Amino acid sequence: MQHHAGEDTIAALATAPGGAVAVIRVSGSETLNIVERVWKGSRPLGEGTPRTMRLGRVVGHGEATTDQALAVYFPAPATYTGEDMAEIHCHGGSLVPRLILSRLLENGCRHADPGEFTKRAFLNGKMDLTQAEAVADIVGAQTEKALRVANKQLRGALGRKVDALYEDLIEVLAEVESRLDFPEEDLDWVAVEKLQKRLSQAMESCENLVSSEYEGEILRHGVKLVLAGPPNVGKSSLLNAVLGRERAIVTEIPGTTRDTLEELANIRGIPLKVIDTAGIREARDAVEASGVNRTMYSASQAQVILWVFDAAGSWEEQSPPPFPGNAQVIAVANKKDCMARSQGEPERRPDTDTTVYTCALTGDGLDELFDAVEDRVWRYKDTDEPEIAVSSRQADGLRKAKTELEEAGGRLEEEQWELGAVALRSAISYVGDVSGRSTSVDVLDTIFSRFCVGK
Ligand code: GDP
Repeated sequence: MQHHAGEDTIAALATAPGGAVAVIRVSGSETLNIVERVWKGSRPLGEGTPRTMRLGRVVGHGEATTDQALAVYFPAPATYTGEDMAEIHCHGGSLVPRLILSRLLENGCRHADPGEFTKRAFLNGKMDLTQAEAVADIVGAQTEKALRVANKQLRGALGRKVDALYEDLIEVLAEVESRLDFPEEDLDWVAVEKLQKRLSQAMESCENLVSSEYEGEILRHGVKLVLAGPPNVGKSSLLNAVLGRERAIVTEIPGTTRDTLEELANIRGIPLKVIDTAGIREARDAVEASGVNRTMYSASQAQVILWVFDAAGSWEEQSPPPFPGNAQVIAVANKKDCMARSQGEPERRPDTDTTVYTCALTGDGLDELFDAVEDRVWRYKDTDEPEIAVSSRQADGLRKAKTELEEAGGRLEEEQWELGAVALRSAISYVGDVSGRSTSVDVLDTIFSRFCVGK
């Protein structure tokens, strides 16, 4: 399917509002004409050295100066979008960038849709769809591990594999179709077994890529980790110790309820959404009961639960309730510094896979806790991170392709070339969806609508 980038020249603010400097991006064939009406330097922008910053001023109505600003012109085709582009770097704040953007719109630009610059880069062949999606992953990355994997995808690690798969299937299809076109002729056919072998290799490639979806989901969306336990055992202190230790609090999100707080943390490069719950206790009144319900709800959504209890207290009185959902429970015996010497070596607690002993006040035991979390959620201990980590969209396409390939294999076995070709074409189209070779307009719109404006 062929798509074309729009004819319009688009503009958008590329930086978040309120910063010290703002960048406004323009892309499209009318870039130079429009920007030259808005920004004035000692010479028109198009007459200077391309790709070089120049100082000038942005003029408002009646030639009044709106701002002193830098402008740079990037002539097509060696640009991000493949089109003529320009940027105006102006003073930030809320007013100046908005005024300059409206001047550009008055002079013929259209306000860019979310992700439209990257969409144009894709449509103009500057990158494949996996690379365009990697741009969004880079902007959204919360840990350096996630960023490294996104950068590999931007450099084409996934795109190359998907492309190789696509090319291979096209060749197999050509073989199958030649049997349809010349059924009577005694051509030198490639043996069916050879074709089937290539199909199984293709299925294996799909399978391998799909198996990285788990890591992809973790890196893109994080792991939900719930801190639960009786009151006063040190849950909040432990959360602070984890956050302080990794110095990776990205933001603080007030939880959906009054009693839970969700924070973004980073343990060994794994993005975590940590949910600190209200203490679980015997619900003596309705208010407490609702807190417990919320804790149980959070637990049901979690992948990992840290059940925190007092190391010096009795396990019988502090054992976890049966949690709904499939989360892995790690028992954390906090306040290990308060354990009486007579208690001796910590025993393994029943009902949970592991018990880790910590002291939230000194940070003692945190490394063991991080080991336990890493063990539960991450398969890449030795190699650190995957080469490729597909998104659920990509995995979905590859899974569908694999199903069609199975079908095609069966048809070839029965020498039903026509039906085999149908299944193969459908598999090829699913693979093409992933790299963007045959992606429908609707799917593209959905993908790019998740981007920020100006990207
Ligand atoms: P939460 O109610 O479970 O969130 O518990 P807090 O984090 O508020 O801690 C309750 C009390 O225990 C506070 O006075 C903490 O300073 C103290 N505390 C937390 N962790 C430890 C620890 O590892 N050792 C000792 N001795 N005290 C701790």
